Amino acid sequence: MQHDPALLQSLAAKVGTPYWLYDARVLRKRIADIQFLSDTEGVQARFAMKACPATKVLQEMHAAGIWIDAVSGNEVLRALRAGHPAGRNPPAICLTADVFRDNALRVVLEHGILPNIGSPGQIADLSRAGYRGQISIRVNPGFGHGHVNACDTGGPSSKHGVWFEDLLATKQAADAAGLEVAMLHAHIGSGPQFQELHDNLTRLAAEFVAALKYFPQLSAVSLGGGIPHNYRDHGAQVPIEPLHELFTSCHRRLCTAARRELRLEIEPGRYYVAPCCTLVTRVTDVKQTRTNEKGSGATFAMVDAGFVDLVRPAMYGSYHAIHVVGRDADDPHIPREPIVVAGPLCESGDIFTRDERELLAPRMLPRPEAGDLLTLRDAGAYGYAMSSNYNSIGRAPQLWLEEDGTVEMISRRETIDDLLKAETSELLG
Ligand SMILES: *Cc1c(COP(=O)(O)O)cnc(C)c1O
Repeated sequence: MQHDPALLQSLAAKVGTPYWLYDARVLRKRIADIQFLSDTEGVQARFAMKACPATKVLQEMHAAGIWIDAVSGNEVLRALRAGHPAGRNPPAICLTADVFRDNALRVVLEHGILPNIGSPGQIADLSRAGYRGQISIRVNPGFGHGHVNACDTGGPSSKHGVWFEDLLATKQAADAAGLEVAMLHAHIGSGPQFQELHDNLTRLAAEFVAALKYFPQLSAVSLGGGIPHNYRDHGAQVPIEPLHELFTSCHRRLCTAARRELRLEIEPGRYYVAPCCTLVTRVTDVKQTRTNEKGSGATFAMVDAGFVDLVRPAMYGSYHAIHVVGRDADDPHIPREPIVVAGPLCESGDIFTRDERELLAPRMLPRPEAGDLLTLRDAGAYGYAMSSNYNSIGRAPQLWLEEDGTVEMISRRETIDDLLKAETSELLG
């Protein structure tokens, strides 16, 4: 569903452009879609908060009984401040880290957070820091699939997790350090197709069943995240009912093999949040290059958002649906032409219409005019979360549209003072 053009215009007049608009109704729909995960006895969902760490979103997850998967000490602290409980009983926040950096170890110790280690040497890190108690081990099972190669999360080229043949040695190191392996975890990505997700998770569950005999103290198994979102076709999302079947049958198989109750966990990021946010930007100019001996010309719609806001197209060639506000209902009769949508940054790669191979993959759009608003849809996952301060532009404000139609600003536009606030002149010797 697209937002009311009058709403988008009036918000642009109030906060300027670009801005992010979250839609509470869409987020709650996605949470409800897979709520069976948290409502099924013995199955528990976590939100991979790196996808969208806004406090407001974390609070929605908490209200729905969804736990948290964090990646850094500060992500854990964000989750705690948003109201998620500390402690390992139950481990409502889990810290999945390939590397303990900055405050990560301190946060684990101070708040009793379950560490999910992704590298064998982290046993020694934990032990040296004085940690005793439960841990989780993230396994690289030797296979997996991301939405692009750079997102592959299992297999020989993946940096994530403990290689499956090193799992027993890592477990023995944990035993020797007085650490109890309470959870085995793998996040192998899913591929864009349901069948691939199904096959990968079924295979993964079988690997965990085979490993059970070595882990008598295990209380949980996590199959990771990776439920895909279809960015190109909203009518073709993953089917929920077979997903329900898949997770409940994996859970049953694990409990039967273990001859006791085990918790099955899953930790979607993208699926929960991808469709709940739109990046709204303004067209500042429309210009043309002309064909010469180096190539053919293109029409550029220059907009005020760039990859400092939404980096996925520049980083992975990701597709986000683009609409010209007010002139672009899904009407097939509106004349369209190939348009390249480009941002304000001093980088020729600051282009929203790209694909995995092409720098310029023009999109068929109604020709916009300077002053038009343009929307980039499905920007809720790895959108604001990956935005940066490159070119000192400052992050755009995040707005929250409630189901009753009220709009709240949940973060304001960053100012020069925000950008400079960590600069010091502290002498170190
Ligand atoms: C990124 C990540 C997820 C979430 O992946 P999605 O594709 O967004 O569902 C889950 N678990 C771990 C460990 C991750 O690193």
